Amino acid sequence: MKTIKDLVGLKGKRVVVRVDFNVPLKDGEIRDDNRIVQALPTIVDLTKQGAKVILLSHLGKVDHKDPAKTESDKKKNSLEKVAVRLSELLKSSVSFCPDTRGEMFDYFTQTLENGSVLLIQNTRYEKGEEKNDPQLSAIWASVADVFVMDAFGSAHRAHASTHGIPSILKAQGKQVAIGYLVEKEVNALTRVVKVKEEDRPYIAILGGFKVSDKIKVIDTLVKKCDKILIGGAMAYTFSKALGNDIGDSPFEADQLEYAKRVYLEADGKIVLPSDCIVTDGFDVWTKIITTENNQIPSGFMGMDIGPKTAQQYQNELAKAKMIFWNGPMGVFEKEPFTKGTIAICEAVANLGKKTFSVCGGGDSAAAIKQFGYISAFSHVSTGGGASLEMIENDGHLPGIDIIED
Ligand code: AMP
Repeated sequence: MKTIKDLVGLKGKRVVVRVDFNVPLKDGEIRDDNRIVQALPTIVDLTKQGAKVILLSHLGKVDHKDPAKTESDKKKNSLEKVAVRLSELLKSSVSFCPDTRGEMFDYFTQTLENGSVLLIQNTRYEKGEEKNDPQLSAIWASVADVFVMDAFGSAHRAHASTHGIPSILKAQGKQVAIGYLVEKEVNALTRVVKVKEEDRPYIAILGGFKVSDKIKVIDTLVKKCDKILIGGAMAYTFSKALGNDIGDSPFEADQLEYAKRVYLEADGKIVLPSDCIVTDGFDVWTKIITTENNQIPSGFMGMDIGPKTAQQYQNELAKAKMIFWNGPMGVFEKEPFTKGTIAICEAVANLGKKTFSVCGGGDSAAAIKQFGYISAFSHVSTGGGASLEMIENDGHLPGIDIIED
């Protein structure tokens, strides 16, 4: 796979870079600029080499079925604010093209100077983006001498900007490569996918809300890992499937059969909580109780793993040589239910550098950040969905495979 270091003769060339600027917004302001920060090494390197850097990214969703909604979504998800923030971070000017094709697009992409940066409006303003429309891909490819894929968080989608452009450029014999961020992600995730003996015991921690979102990843990890520690709301589907009382805890009725089968077939590899923190309401509660065991009384719902489970999971993790974590252990957004998730963070922090630890992005990455444990991990992925799909597909993602020779 070609990386930025393999690209040659970039001076004066137009390099289209697919970045992931899908930043969280609140009241129109950027709430967390991590994704912009993570893209800087690639952008800086290309500008230093005298390339004309053209950035493409999506931001949020644009509904193309209802015209009124299309307009309001476009207004909400303009990348203009991102261009301003990027310029602040780069400490140099960034041009912003408000259109994704047409006269303005032609003007901006043709008048770029060597070493300058241009951000194009949200790729999802275009209906054809998510359909990998060949006509749209051709328009964007026509302004590219070189293509760099640096949007790991979008690499699991074969869209016009992630897949269409590089397919065209490759057919034309032009250079395509992955950027520094994608290179870092691929290296870390390949290690948890292609497991070496020296990385055992390999322990996965899976939490979060639904079993149904994680079926494929559970199936894959059962084959690769030595233990899978389960937490979060998905634990209650497993627990109910095994005949335990789960009170009013959330569970997925259509996943009970799957949960029971995978648990039994895993033959002790899947570990479930042995106690829980429960309440008599999700948003408002009058009681918080720690159960003695894995039985939850009616009128109560599980909100976090209990202290006994947290200790047991910490003991398991203390033996690990490699860890993959996806999904919080409880409702970590609410203070009384943070302890289970923090216990996992502490266990990873205690292991130090001798254990290779990967957090698969999404809510667990938000939790790690909230609790101040980012540096405890060997790698925190910028792509929740992409990192899970990479594991499920044995190291393959369409937006990365297309770059391969
Ligand atoms: P996911 O997106 O599947 O990783 O799920 C993350 C969400 O699951 C977070 O918002 C958590 O608050 C939520 N969650 C975790 N544990 C529980 C639980 N015991 N009950 C309800 N929600 C939970």
